[in-house]
Amino acid sequence: MGLIKTKGIVTKIVNYSDNDKIITLITADQGKIQVFCKGAQRVKNSVLACTEFLAFSEFVLYEGKGDMYNFSSADIIEVFYNLRIDVEKLSYATTMAQIINDVCQEGELGYKKLQLFLNTLYVLSETEKELDFVYSGFRIRLLAILGFIPKLALCTTCNQNAIDIENKFFSIKDNGVKCDICARLDKGAIKISEVTYTSLVYILSSDAKKIFSFEIPANDLEELKLVAQIYTNEKLEKEYKVMKI
Ligand SMILES: [Zn+2]
Repeated sequence: MGLIKTKGIVTKIVNYSDNDKIITLITADQGKIQVFCKGAQRVKNSVLACTEFLAFSEFVLYEGKGDMYNFSSADIIEVFYNLRIDVEKLSYATTMAQIINDVCQEGELGYKKLQLFLNTLYVLSETEKELDFVYSGFRIRLLAILGFIPKLALCTTCNQNAIDIENKFFSIKDNGVKCDICARLDKGAIKISEVTYTSLVYILSSDAKKIFSFEIPANDLEELKLVAQIYTNEKLEKEYKVMKI
């Protein structure tokens, strides 16, 4: 019976019988794993806090039947308390947990995805940044981690340097920036301001801990939201909506 030690965050909970639950963890070294937690529904059980939604802990697990692990013990690292007491923040966190669950696989190295998810939850929990801004930045950066990196240096059609393009568009079809002449032949292209363009460049190139450390005016945020929404739906082939809790 092999024991493993891993840091992970709870992204899904399924109650099992009257006392037990099965949690989904996103970990850096094991990817997405399922853990059977005996007795975790009992209020007085010490296992409870570590197995709550969005709790991040260092777990000791032992291998169970099939792909399932069994809970042995855990030390809590972060519970993101503010997300639990704010219904709106919790709705965004829940939607992001659903996305991260969908894009993480079992047995992969998930360090970058876990790091992005934890950094995003931290900003959501500890700051009053616009929720749609945080959600948009999370999705754009996540898609880049998954390999969908928008081309922002040159027009994707005529190769004009983006610095020289006065009226910029974002093409979903061609994954990147377009000049206004090329955008005329691309019906799905979205007009973006210089601020939105710079924000996209920043989100994709900044240090992992600084993705959200800038301000964006409301009009530009609307464009960023639109790009993030359409780009995510297209690349992940699924329509995500922030759930009302
Ligand atoms: Zn062009």
